Amino acid sequence: MPIRSQASLDSSGVPGDDERVLEGVPVSPGIAIGPAYAYARDREGVERRNLNADEVDKELDRFRQALQKAERDLDKIGGIAREKLGDDHARVFEAQADMLHDPSLRNPVVEAIRAEHLSADYAVHRTLTSQRDRLLASPSEYFRDRAADLLDLEERILRHLRSGKILSAIDEDSIVTAGTLTAADVVLFSRRGIRGLALQYGGATSHVSIMARAFALPAVTGVHALDTEIGHGDTVIVDGSRGTVIVRPRPDTLAFYVQRQKRHAALVRAQRKLVPLPPETLDGHRVRLRANLEFEEELDLLAKYGAEGIGLFRTEILVLMRRRVQIAEDEQFAIYKKIAERVGEAGTTFRVLDLGGDKMLPMAHREANPFLGWRGLRVLLDKPEILLPQLRAILRASAFGPARIMLPMVTDVAEVEHFRLILDATIDQLRRDGHAVAEHVPLGIMVEVPATALLAERFAPLVDFFSVGSNDLTQYTLAVDRGNDLVARLFDELHPGVLNLIRQTINAGHRHGKPVSLCGELAGQPLATPILLGLGLDEFSLSPVYLPDVKQVIRGVAYADAQQLAAECLLAPDAATVRRLALAFLRERPGMPMERLEAG
Ligand code: PEP
Ligand code: MG
Repeated sequence: MPIRSQASLDSSGVPGDDERVLEGVPVSPGIAIGPAYAYARDREGVERRNLNADEVDKELDRFRQALQKAERDLDKIGGIAREKLGDDHARVFEAQADMLHDPSLRNPVVEAIRAEHLSADYAVHRTLTSQRDRLLASPSEYFRDRAADLLDLEERILRHLRSGKILSAIDEDSIVTAGTLTAADVVLFSRRGIRGLALQYGGATSHVSIMARAFALPAVTGVHALDTEIGHGDTVIVDGSRGTVIVRPRPDTLAFYVQRQKRHAALVRAQRKLVPLPPETLDGHRVRLRANLEFEEELDLLAKYGAEGIGLFRTEILVLMRRRVQIAEDEQFAIYKKIAERVGEAGTTFRVLDLGGDKMLPMAHREANPFLGWRGLRVLLDKPEILLPQLRAILRASAFGPARIMLPMVTDVAEVEHFRLILDATIDQLRRDGHAVAEHVPLGIMVEVPATALLAERFAPLVDFFSVGSNDLTQYTLAVDRGNDLVARLFDELHPGVLNLIRQTINAGHRHGKPVSLCGELAGQPLATPILLGLGLDEFSLSPVYLPDVKQVIRGVAYADAQQLAAECLLAPDAATVRRLALAFLRERPGMPMERLEAG
């Protein structure tokens, strides 16, 4: 591989002595190696310039033309996104095109040119910066992500004002490094054949992360020191599985990662033979592996990785893509129907909207502690105008393929009872309206609040299944914000406190004959697989790309041994001990995906 690091000779002349290892958030798995392309934004150096009175009309015209060209760009990019990724992705760009026509964007710019005689460049920069600052101050990740879209729009307009090119002269095979990117950038860059992304900002749920996964580009975000540590052209390794970015690697580091990349590719090839095989232990204990999906366009991944249906369909993405909470019943029905039909007998678990927390608050609503606030089912029970169109759409889709309904952020038995009443009434109403609804639509709850796990016994008679949301269950049990870098070290789903709550949930479910699934990120960690298996988990629901590793572990262990391991882990004093026990357990067994295990 022709990799040359321009900056890998320090003053002593020893190659690679200035290697840096930067930590970030793994948002799209895989390893990418290549020269850094430091994506410079075009908005630098927008200076205040005043016009002469006779220049004003020309400047207004220049602004209008730039808007038209920007709109044509967005049409083009939207077309590429639609062709490669489907309608949902394309809507992001349609929404940006709508913003171009928004009077609250246009009018202040026109006014600044006309009344203050400011140059169009400066008027655009000032107006969009102030709108962006307002969004950035929001506690909601959804609104902060919209700020990135506004930045994209500003740069696009500025580029046209300056008659610049849309696409920077980006080298093929590069690793793009940037503060932040927009979804539009990712579409354009992937078209150029880039290898991976390393970004300073952006969470796992941001547009850029979603797009990176959809394009299978290894990506790490939250790499704070990126701009000071990476120079244009430096060799960079992006480890999207571990969340590490290595800059100017030493020759031995580079050789190690080239090997890892090869082993990773070989493992992926070897794991293809697992696809048709059942997830069954050596002694014949069978579980189910389902997929966590967010987009209709990902449905092909079910067959590719051998998932048995969908264990978590996160519907919030619909809101994110459309930028509105109120989505018409028929619009939702069209999507859910297609999914239910294509998934078929294996079935789809539709989670009703989990708004709030860090996910797209439905209203411009500020809360001091959004994760402990108006979130998930709490919002839906207060807002029938949001819940009912979705519920009706899912129920109508159930006539086209088995569908299950899942409730997020459940804390109280009364919430489930209330929901059940709404569900029954909605089914009756639909049938009266002449719509077909499946005979039985199972209702389950996410177990992600410790109180719910502790009282699982009391919830079990009310539901058809449980699904443990280990991401939230961990943050609420350990009192560690899942999105806060400062305490990321303390966020460990393998903490025995969390494991004991999972065990309690599984036991309660089983005593009432109800299956128990787990759909948080823990389900995709092969190190956790034998523990979850041993605790008696019936279903794992995970990102399809992680499914082969988990299946490989399941097929390589005996259930009786996994039960023994789980029992030891429940008694362990801390997460570190649990990790040691699980690693030792797997190392003793042949044929484990050690590459991923060491990473996990
Ligand atoms: C979870 O909390 O584990 C979960 C699957 O839900 P989300 O990550 O969407 O909050
Ligand atoms: Mg959750």
